[in-house]
Amino acid sequence: MKLVDNLYAYVWQGNDNNCNSYVFVHALKDKRHLLIDPGHIITPFYQEHGLEILVREMARDGIDASATGLIALTHAHPDHSEAAKVIREQCQALVALHKADEPLYQMLGGKVDIYLEEGELVLGPENQLKLSIFHSPGHSPGHITLYWPEHKVLIAGDVIFYQSTGRFDLPGGSARALKQSIQRLSELDIEYLLCGHPYGHPGIIKGKTAIQNNFDFIKTNILF
Ligand SMILES: [Zn+2]
Ligand SMILES: [Zn+2]
Repeated sequence: MKLVDNLYAYVWQGNDNNCNSYVFVHALKDKRHLLIDPGHIITPFYQEHGLEILVREMARDGIDASATGLIALTHAHPDHSEAAKVIREQCQALVALHKADEPLYQMLGGKVDIYLEEGELVLGPENQLKLSIFHSPGHSPGHITLYWPEHKVLIAGDVIFYQSTGRFDLPGGSARALKQSIQRLSELDIEYLLCGHPYGHPGIIKGKTAIQNNFDFIKTNILF
């Protein structure tokens, strides 16, 4: 589904746990795509073909998934990262991840090509796609979020969801760090909040007021 400009959203609609995926179409210098969080190849419990479904959904929007050039992972958990290995091999795509999540990704058999760090990520034939990378630990030590100032889009991974937050009880998690990450993100000017999962809600929250209300709900009722 086209969200804004060249950004497309793929909300997971299966029964098993899997992540939402986001694609910046033709975003790279060679016109290939930037794919964020491709998810599972096959989900662990119900054996749903996550990657096949994603490829099919992209094709429905006229996007050739085999033209993926860069895969950015918000973090290394397999429900976000598993399919990256396959796409990397089949499409000669590069995988980008924060260094602090590399040990987990390596344990899962993954290879990192580019380290994502706090700062600017500038892409495109004329450097027209400028993303701010925020190191947002707490759910995992190397979790990053991506902010696109041009359209006020935040790709939040597993930091926040609709009326809930990411878990902080997994290895490398920290409630304190998650709270700080959420506080920091809540200060951004956001019109599109794109979450890592469709937990009781598609995970795409539109409009500044709805997004601020969601941050307020989390701060009042959950972590703060
Ligand atoms: Zn996760
Ligand atoms: Zn997740």
